Amino acid sequence: MIYAANFKTNHTRETTREYLTKLQLQLFKKNPNDKVYVFPPLTALDDYQSNDVTIGVQNAYPVKNGAFTGEVGLEQLAEFNINTILIGHSERRDILGESQEFIAKKFDFFKEQGFEIIYCIGESLEIREQGLDAVMEHLVSQFEGIDTTYDNFVVAYEPIWAIGTGRTASVEEITQTHNALKKVVDKPLLYGGSVKGSNIKEIAEIENVDGVLVGGASLKTDTFLELVLHS
Ligand code: PEP
Repeated sequence: MIYAANFKTNHTRETTREYLTKLQLQLFKKNPNDKVYVFPPLTALDDYQSNDVTIGVQNAYPVKNGAFTGEVGLEQLAEFNINTILIGHSERRDILGESQEFIAKKFDFFKEQGFEIIYCIGESLEIREQGLDAVMEHLVSQFEGIDTTYDNFVVAYEPIWAIGTGRTASVEEITQTHNALKKVVDKPLLYGGSVKGSNIKEIAEIENVDGVLVGGASLKTDTFLELVLHS
């Protein structure tokens, strides 16, 4: 299983360091095959040393350096030895207005750099209410321009209506969607959307769930550890 913590616009460098120190102390208890990722905000990057946690970024601009005011490129990530990135998160698609074309450009750039890419896809409630075929049509459209055969590629299925809402997709919905997605991309497949201590067990037991991407419940070390150490 993969356990990935997405801090979004939460935590500072100081609190991220405290978080990682506390997390690290407990990770000897995790299953040795499990992988743990933390995606802090860009300003919290630092020289964290850990064999148990991979630090990734929530976003970067697809460029080495240059005139892109307010953005961070490869040169800035390299200073912190970052080679893992989240691409396609619904908050970047919907709030920051990233188009599929731009997302594909970003994907290509970081693929060329050999980054591990956690690529997020997900449908709105309106699409979910139309049934699985409509959901799959939408999810497949989010692979447009994306090389799904890339080796260092993990997919995160995150229904938008389940992100930060407390409403998790049902076991049946996750099962059906993940089974259908595995036929499209045979890559590790994470589920994301209000994963927490009370539902991790049933979600982790679903056959084609290879891990979870967690927002709210990852913000405190204790609640994230509840997920990582649930078994
Ligand atoms: C996310 O935004 O990736 C996410 C899954 O958030 P939450 O766990 O808070 O629903």
